[in-house]
Amino acid sequence: MNTKDKKFNSKVIHSGHGADEDTGAVMPPIHLSSTFKQKSPGDFKYEYARTGNPTRDVLEKLLCEIEDGEFGFAFSSGMAAISALSDALGGNYSILSSDDVYGGTRRIFDKIKSVNQNVEITYVDLSKDNNWQGHIKENTKMIWVETPSNPLLKLIDIEKIRKSINNQEIIVVCDNTFASPYNQQPLNQGADVVIHSSTKYLGGHSDIIGGALVINNNPELAEKIKYIQNAVGSVPSPFDCYMLVRSIKTLAVRMERHNNNALEIANYLLKHNKVNNVFYPGLNSDPNYEVAKKQMKGFGGILSIDLKGDINSTKKFLENIEIFTLAESLGGVESLIEHPAIMTHASIDKKIREELGISDTLIRLSIGIEDVNDLKEALDKALSLI
Ligand SMILES: *Cc1c(COP(=O)(O)O)cnc(C)c1O
Repeated sequence: MNTKDKKFNSKVIHSGHGADEDTGAVMPPIHLSSTFKQKSPGDFKYEYARTGNPTRDVLEKLLCEIEDGEFGFAFSSGMAAISALSDALGGNYSILSSDDVYGGTRRIFDKIKSVNQNVEITYVDLSKDNNWQGHIKENTKMIWVETPSNPLLKLIDIEKIRKSINNQEIIVVCDNTFASPYNQQPLNQGADVVIHSSTKYLGGHSDIIGGALVINNNPELAEKIKYIQNAVGSVPSPFDCYMLVRSIKTLAVRMERHNNNALEIANYLLKHNKVNNVFYPGLNSDPNYEVAKKQMKGFGGILSIDLKGDINSTKKFLENIEIFTLAESLGGVESLIEHPAIMTHASIDKKIREELGISDTLIRLSIGIEDVNDLKEALDKALSLI
């Protein structure tokens, strides 16, 4: 069957590899070798494992196919993928970025790229402000979109952004970590590049750090990324590549449960008298609902809530909740809970945090795939303490 004809639920299982040709092994072998024998000087399929190796090839092919892209690259972390992409664009350029982005993305843009490569970043609430073309500068090379955003789950209409930007040389990049390719395929909505922290839903079990870039219609950019991936060397180990290939096989079934559990919990918290506000794009009442229905297949497993009370009652809630683990990160099979202002978003200045709406009573939940009634009970019990 032609790859393009396969449905997503089949691609996650069959893309990237068949049975091993040498042995018939159903699962792809892990090639740990750092170097490869050449038949004659310069005559080889693989040369040195940083440059390329068979296990990474399987993963990169798989990433490409599940995002419907042309070129896929695996990195040692999401940040390494983001760094490679911004390096590929050179120096002395501008980025138009949505304002509610992963804390580490802001940190690398503001503290590394702007200082070392004279990259200028303009942050705008791209979910509300539709004047996208109006924010473009002469040297803008990239529009950075994170949708759903972190931690406020704001959505940006990818298709509308691509259509509104007159200059086709400006690349539209989507950080698709929160949605996962099961729920959203930005390249099919007009984005040029997708990035992932594969640490999250792609890995799905909170046991690897990884990143990915998938590119469409831009062989020149893909060539630069390939060069940087090898030259800088922020590549995943063959073992991590194997782990990701294994994890992605269950992405569809995991996401289905994440979606269902999160929607049910969002509806439940919406009615709770200790909760001020629920941020989840799958709620009919959510301002992002229309865009969510248009560009997402499911609404994902992440939601944020604003609790009634203050910092102390919020801490008490977090210290006492059962089942949910108080920890950074997201996207694993287990439910996690965290306090953005103190934990994941602490690297953002307090003033900017407040402008964004990351208050001291805001909590982010990564809803796992446990029994939803147990999760509701745990939330209810901890909320009764505040
Ligand atoms: C975690 C995360 C990153 C960074 O990825 P790492 O794998 O931690 O380097 C980037 N974007 C988003 C949305 C994330 O959640």
